[in-house]
Amino acid sequence: MREWALDLHIHTLLSPCADDSMIPSVVLEYAKELGIDALAITDHNTSENVASFMEKGKELGVKIIPGMELQTQEDVHIICLFDTLRQTNLWQEIVYKKLPPLKNSKEYFGEQWIVNKDDELVRELDKLLLVGTSFTIEDAVEAVHELKGICIAAHVDKQAFSLWGHLGYIPPGLFLDGVEFTPFLPRNVKQLEQIKNEGYNYIVSSDAHHWDGIQAPQCYGYMEEINIEEIKKALRNEEGRYIRTLR
Ligand SMILES: [Zn+2]
Ligand SMILES: [Zn+2]
Repeated sequence: MREWALDLHIHTLLSPCADDSMIPSVVLEYAKELGIDALAITDHNTSENVASFMEKGKELGVKIIPGMELQTQEDVHIICLFDTLRQTNLWQEIVYKKLPPLKNSKEYFGEQWIVNKDDELVRELDKLLLVGTSFTIEDAVEAVHELKGICIAAHVDKQAFSLWGHLGYIPPGLFLDGVEFTPFLPRNVKQLEQIKNEGYNYIVSSDAHHWDGIQAPQCYGYMEEINIEEIKKALRNEEGRYIRTLR
């Protein structure tokens, strides 16, 4: 086993709020330069750029974990991660059915581009992505688990779009796999204590929307290899696995 540098929350130019620089070559070459072993591609309510990033990642030797940042009915963001493109596509199909049938306003929210592995713009996605789905938090976690994925409550130290901002705690009986902190905000000691008392471990991810928002490794997983089962074990400190964050 060894420590792998993980950044489990990154946006591509498909997220309307992300910069045009979030194309496969720029993101992956920079991540590689920083020494990141695995990146999770987590666009808002979509995974349509995951395949291209996976292909480019194979070329460059950066592992891509397919994922999505889901926005629930309560406007809480949840990082959903899977092992395979097949699972992720199934998940995306389900999520698309839970989106309101509205079109994106690119003047207001920004453009939503699907790219190929060579950074060429393939097409614009015209559904409105930056909106809550009709999934409740509980139902979303259950549905992701049914597909053998994991759910991590995103940026719980932020007020906006976070479980903490919404509820101020992790509801008992919500079987999340972990929580996420941002690299920049000061840790709230009370919050840290509550999270530990609930039995949760945390990761730190860059949530980058611009290439230079990708941070040098903040979070390591001590595991045999990088896959969902191993990350799950590391989040539970099982069988010698663990997560180590810089702070
Ligand atoms: Zn978010
Ligand atoms: Zn995000």
